[in-house]
Amino acid sequence: MPSGRLILLLALSPLLLGAGKPGPPPLDPEAEYGQRAARLGETDPKGWVALADFCEERGLWERQAEALRKVLALEPDHKEARARLDEACFSGEWLPAEEAEAREAEAMQGMGLLLYGTTWIPAKEADRLREADRKAVRWDVETRIDTPHLVLYSSRPLAFTRRLAALLENEVGAYRRLYGRVWKMDPGAKPIRIYLFGDRATFERVGGPVHGGHLSDYVGGFYDANATKILYVGMIRGAEGNETMAASIAVHELLHGLDYLLSRSVVKGTPKWIQEGRAEHFGQAIQGRRVQPGTLSRFARGRFRTVFGGGMPEIPIATLVDGACGFTEAHYAASQAFVHFLFHGDGGRHAAGFRAFLSGLPAKASRAEFEKAVGKLPALEPAFRRHDQEVLLAS
Ligand SMILES: [Zn+2]
Repeated sequence: MPSGRLILLLALSPLLLGAGKPGPPPLDPEAEYGQRAARLGETDPKGWVALADFCEERGLWERQAEALRKVLALEPDHKEARARLDEACFSGEWLPAEEAEAREAEAMQGMGLLLYGTTWIPAKEADRLREADRKAVRWDVETRIDTPHLVLYSSRPLAFTRRLAALLENEVGAYRRLYGRVWKMDPGAKPIRIYLFGDRATFERVGGPVHGGHLSDYVGGFYDANATKILYVGMIRGAEGNETMAASIAVHELLHGLDYLLSRSVVKGTPKWIQEGRAEHFGQAIQGRRVQPGTLSRFARGRFRTVFGGGMPEIPIATLVDGACGFTEAHYAASQAFVHFLFHGDGGRHAAGFRAFLSGLPAKASRAEFEKAVGKLPALEPAFRRHDQEVLLAS
């Protein structure tokens, strides 16, 4: 095709489609996966990683795992692929990470060693490091786990702290893959400190005043963006049943933390639905020790049933996008649902426009900018409601 004609077509296409209407549906993701996989063959681990990214973005989680397995067939020690499949090496063998950690713990504890920071060390050495940390953070840390991007100080049991560390480290990878296309990531960002408290009094003493009933009697969390750049997650001792909730809160708050610290996108000042909807998009998408954006936790499904199943009045998306509202539980759910719709709804046709809108933040945050990038709200509303009913309420 002569290039002149191609340019003309591209220039015309907004007119042909009509302003504000969503673009044409992309190729069916499964079909695209099949085509790309057939082209890749058996020699291109980088290509398979890129295909795994493609699957992740479109919520094809089984295909994503399949693509990562292809990487490992070509390069068995591919660290990123192993990490994304939540596998770890113990004694020269790759295992599900939880199992590798359990075996390692048994072997190391058998030798009288303790895990503190990054390695297993003699108890005396761990005591010394713990004392130094207690002085530095000014509360009674019991254990500490360091991952490539995080330092977790915790007074929760070691096994729980390790599970949370793995989950949050996995979240950092998911964030880089999804938002690295939107915002530039800071390659030299310092590890984010996470405080995992065991009692509310310490939480409030170290974390400062808690606003707006954010902190329940069981778990709560917030991201301190002002001075210390620390994520706090509190948990009352003995409330083990709330681990799921604590993990969800930690993932939610870390999303805010990554916005500030990793992408430097400073979404502060932009409408709350963008911040909270995206934080819930991650926080309610935990599968085991992985964050799989687009999947829905049991809690998320339950909340959607309450909010969209007729239990609460619907919040029009214009109310969210204009930012002219308070922020209740229903607003969190509606924001999450709308972000879910924009990334995954209608066969993924809004995702590129939504990313374009996000990339303009925080300057271009108005409803007009949103409509220019994604589409007119009145036209989106019915499709969004269908998504609520057909995707978010279906279980
Ligand atoms: Zn939040």
